[in-house]
Amino acid sequence: MSSSKKYPFISQALDERRVEHRFRDLNALEIESDPLFGKREGKTLLNFCSNDYLGLSNNPVVKQRSVEFVQKYGAGSSSSRLVSGTRDYHSDLEKKFAKVCGFDSVLLFNTGFQANLSIIAAIADRNSLILADKKSHNSLIQGAQLSKAEFKRFNHNDYNQLEKFLIEAQSKNYNRIWIISETIFSMDGDANNLEELVRLSSKYKAYLYSDDAHALGVFGYKGMGFNPPHKEIDLNIGTFGKAFGSFGAFVGCAEEMKDYLVNFCSGFIYTTALPPAIIGALDAALDLIPTMDEERTHILKLSEILRHEMHKLGFDTANSISQIVPIIVGSDKNAVSLSNHLESKGILASAIRPPTVEKDKARIRITITANHQQKHIEQLVEVIREWKNG
Ligand SMILES: *Cc1c(COP(=O)(O)O)cnc(C)c1O
Repeated sequence: MSSSKKYPFISQALDERRVEHRFRDLNALEIESDPLFGKREGKTLLNFCSNDYLGLSNNPVVKQRSVEFVQKYGAGSSSSRLVSGTRDYHSDLEKKFAKVCGFDSVLLFNTGFQANLSIIAAIADRNSLILADKKSHNSLIQGAQLSKAEFKRFNHNDYNQLEKFLIEAQSKNYNRIWIISETIFSMDGDANNLEELVRLSSKYKAYLYSDDAHALGVFGYKGMGFNPPHKEIDLNIGTFGKAFGSFGAFVGCAEEMKDYLVNFCSGFIYTTALPPAIIGALDAALDLIPTMDEERTHILKLSEILRHEMHKLGFDTANSISQIVPIIVGSDKNAVSLSNHLESKGILASAIRPPTVEKDKARIRITITANHQQKHIEQLVEVIREWKNG
């Protein structure tokens, strides 16, 4: 065990993590020509924990457009958007996005984390009420806390409880109520019920904030996620680090909401504008994604096969309906043991443990991408079967 005289609070916290077997560190994964495989400590691993759902991070058209933008516009945008960092390439991409998705307007953000944290802090205050799903991404929770609003979390997808909170709220003097949910949840791969959230928000005069991070690129008309058909959603969040293959985020909203964020959202105002390399990559990804229905069908078919095989082996896959398939093994120890077994057989899959998920719901979280083939799923299933029977 390490110990440090200078930072006793740090060595104590880290030691606690080690004792609980929850200490985490950074391991580089070297990606060679095929992004499906990575090398760690000389060993080649088949990657089942990437969010590059459509394989666009290594797509030649995406890479080429990124290079073109760098050559044409340089390496950086030189300033924040409001000062002198806005270029035509930012505004053009925002307009193109709004058009493809059917949003009134779109505003780019540097990351999804930054968007959630700072948008929520800007749209609610100490007189507001925020009601968020218990399984919300950390960035949504941090944003709610930063806003100083009263913050309640309803049980996962439990809209009876949400309605109860909404009814209670009617007799109080909140200046506004926000309902927050993801469309596809990142740890369970299950979906929410957007129609029902839209209905409840309209019935109780609440606003709706919907984070589409894991659905974007994989679900919906032209792959634009679950949000676009629901015009009633007040803030439509999407991120670009996953299926879009690069980096950044956006919000789709009404013109007036965009003006408000440009004026009041610190995570938009006080940060350097996204650089040309990223905008170029996003511009190409936005051309390609609407044409990738075949890839989307393939991803969902493989995911279904994996769930079916896992059920046959007696594993719970929660309510996954997406490319994210949790294989729930219960204890932390089981999760680490399975993850190590997979790695020893050349498969990379992450063990997810509390506090990221509830106690006794430790799991291996598999993500399927368009680059996976059926034989890769078979290989994965075989190795898991071995562990189960071994
Ligand atoms: C990944 C993710 C984010 C964060 O997006 P980044 O662009 O990676 O910062 C936000 N919300 C959800 C639901 C996510 O899964």
